[in-house]
Amino acid sequence: MSMDPGNESGVTAKASAASGRFDVWLIAGIAIVAIILVAIRADLRSVIVIPAVIAIAAAAWYLSRRARDEGATRQVSPPAPDGNHPVSELIAALPDPTVLLDPDGRVVAMNASVSAVAPALRQGEPAALALRIPDVIEAIRRASLTGKSDRVEFSERVPSERWFELFVTPLRTSLSSNGKVHLLLTFRDLTPIRRVEEMRVDFVANASHELRTPLAALSGFIETLKGPARNDVSARERFLDIMEAQAKRMARLIDDLLSLSRIELAAHVRPDTPVDLVPIVRQVIDALQMLARDRGVAVTINAPPEPLIVSGNRDELTRVFENLVENALKYGASGKRVEITLSRAFAVSGGEEAVTTVRDYGPGIAAEHLPRLTERFYRVDVTESREQGGTGLGLALVKHIMNRHRGRLTIESRPGEGATFTVRLPLFAGALGTARKTA
Ligand code: ADP
Repeated sequence: MSMDPGNESGVTAKASAASGRFDVWLIAGIAIVAIILVAIRADLRSVIVIPAVIAIAAAAWYLSRRARDEGATRQVSPPAPDGNHPVSELIAALPDPTVLLDPDGRVVAMNASVSAVAPALRQGEPAALALRIPDVIEAIRRASLTGKSDRVEFSERVPSERWFELFVTPLRTSLSSNGKVHLLLTFRDLTPIRRVEEMRVDFVANASHELRTPLAALSGFIETLKGPARNDVSARERFLDIMEAQAKRMARLIDDLLSLSRIELAAHVRPDTPVDLVPIVRQVIDALQMLARDRGVAVTINAPPEPLIVSGNRDELTRVFENLVENALKYGASGKRVEITLSRAFAVSGGEEAVTTVRDYGPGIAAEHLPRLTERFYRVDVTESREQGGTGLGLALVKHIMNRHRGRLTIESRPGEGATFTVRLPLFAGALGTARKTA
């Protein structure tokens, strides 16, 4: 047979309230009878008044004791929250994973998001069994003993690395008794903050390293030119060329870093100027003709006769196609041709989009590198990238510009078969009708 402690204490409370009312009526009755007798029989006044006063005082003392005892009894057996208790409702409404423990460490109430942190926790069962992390159990024990709030950070490695912080707050409420406290456990997921922190640290380390390398080369050559090579004219010419290349590399790196931070700052603002992609891509190809000739690569473009208007920022979109075509010319030069195609297509999400592909026939990229290519400073081959004047930030820039334009970059490649970089941008809504008529 199961018993509901909440209901049991409710019944007790009702019974004692009824008996309390009866006692008050009894004392009032005695007092009224005494007053009537005193009024009717003046000769009995001294005999009645003294016992009546004593009886009323005794009854008042008895009632006050009873009230105190009842208060204590109520504290000894506090109503425990069940699923319908306001405390449970309150905890269920909290956004962070939250658990209420009774003084014995059993779960009184918890909300649904707890399952993401401690899936083994069950209502009515001891929390220590389900939590199992020594630091967490120790923090709960400390808070329970000292009655003071505690905080602990802990991490999990399986199924993936995650970090949490736990606040243990003792509660002295009507639920607590005999100085024992209930404990409120509030978890906070620190994983996103930690990831951003790690990325920031990595980024600063990478950027410093990238800048330090050309700077070290520049310093080295300056020393040599001031010392041993002071009068060596041919060495001076050679060193100055290298120094110029290193200085340009630093300038490119700083330029890319500044562009990245500018685009990130405006990441949430979607550019709204109508821009035609076709002339942008043609201009980029024209500007890179020298590089293409240098590398012996033939560049072809296949574009529709009508404009492909998207909402965009002209300079940023130019940057996207510059990076993609330049990469194809640099890394895919061995394929001897690069094909650029512009077209319109129906988007998976509905609506129409402009699709631009840059295809080369170079060595291609192994599958394991594909998901990481848009990370800052990620290169398949660092030496080759440096030799080509790369900063490792080109595709990171492309990705961020795409995000800001609500577009998408996809990369397909198989080693030995070249690579295809595809950029999809939603067509400018106002231009859809015009474009369709033109088509
Ligand atoms: P980088 O400044 O090094 O060119 P990117 O972010 O533009 O930086 O490119 C990252 C890396 O992706 C390059 O270092 C290169 O290893 C690889 N990559 C990019 N485009 C191609 C391509 N078309 N073919 C082969 N590898 C490529």
